[in-house]
Amino acid sequence: MTSVNSSLDHSYIANPKLFQRHALQWFDHAGRKHLPWQKNITPYRVWLSEIMLQQTQVETVVPYFQRFTKQYPNVKQLALAESDDVLHLWTGLGYYARARNLHKTAQIVHAELKGRFPDNVEELAQLPGIGRSTAAAVVSIAYEQPAAILDGNVKRVLARCFAVEGWPGKPAVMNELWKIAEKLVPQKRNRDYSQAMMDLGAMICTRSSPSCNTCPLQKHCIAFSQSTQLNYPGKKPKQATPKKSTIVLILKDKENGSLLLEKRPSVGIWGGLWSFPEVGNAIPADIQQIAPFTQKAGKPQMLEPVLHTFSHFQLNIRPAIVEVESKHTALFEPNRYLWYNRSKPANVGLPAPIKKIIEALS
Ligand code: SF4
Repeated sequence: MTSVNSSLDHSYIANPKLFQRHALQWFDHAGRKHLPWQKNITPYRVWLSEIMLQQTQVETVVPYFQRFTKQYPNVKQLALAESDDVLHLWTGLGYYARARNLHKTAQIVHAELKGRFPDNVEELAQLPGIGRSTAAAVVSIAYEQPAAILDGNVKRVLARCFAVEGWPGKPAVMNELWKIAEKLVPQKRNRDYSQAMMDLGAMICTRSSPSCNTCPLQKHCIAFSQSTQLNYPGKKPKQATPKKSTIVLILKDKENGSLLLEKRPSVGIWGGLWSFPEVGNAIPADIQQIAPFTQKAGKPQMLEPVLHTFSHFQLNIRPAIVEVESKHTALFEPNRYLWYNRSKPANVGLPAPIKKIIEALS
């Protein structure tokens, strides 16, 4: 089996033009050319799509991309938007740090860079939420300049074709993949080449059932020749996922059925989103500790728990609902509390499990 060190002896490395030709010829007849972000290509649209595509499938991203670009057709309009509106449009896509960084980057590009995204990887990668591969996608697709991308799909193609062993979360493995990716980058047709690499990973060299018989790289693919495709990329060493538990308190207005939401701090889990107040593992006897403008009118009742998996732990969310009488909300931090009317929902970002609880209540 080829070791990490010998993958650079591969015939494609000796002849990158051959690799480029195989990838591009395949792209010309089979690659995707009608995705919404492949029309009216601008750095803004490429950047937006790349951020949305991180950890999310194309089919899921398409309607979000269309709604976003309709609401914010350019970076200026996104920069000037209210963060609640941006998070609201993002609701359901998950990984909300992406949305917060998206908004910050739009504000920097608008206010400090005269509305123009940098055209090189180094400067782009300094902006919030833009890593080396996303920066390279903007440079190669929007500016048509040579730059190597290495997203999850491309990592899988290269790890298999060049038999790069080990988990890409390890710096040595990642460095090896970057070296290979950079050696293969063409000097022309950079937009098509980057798209070809992403499409090969998404459409042909898929995670569990690669279509090697239709793959343009098959003749030189080491994993194919050794029937070891599924050994690459190496798996993350297994670790038990920590489990946590919390009670969220649903304060329901006795008169009109509205639900009290509280804005979470801008950093941390669900930063800047609106959620039911979290009370740890016990419901306080005095509801006014949670919301000073309410009075308990009923007995708290536990509802079905909701299990939510974050990248690094699982959270068992235990909702408890209690009817309250509400008075003078406006006097208490109006930017922190919101009575959420389910028949006329406010435009605010909701974490997916909170949205699920609200829908179940309806
Ligand atoms: Fe992936 Fe198979 Fe193509 Fe190798 S031949 S790159 S394993 S699809």
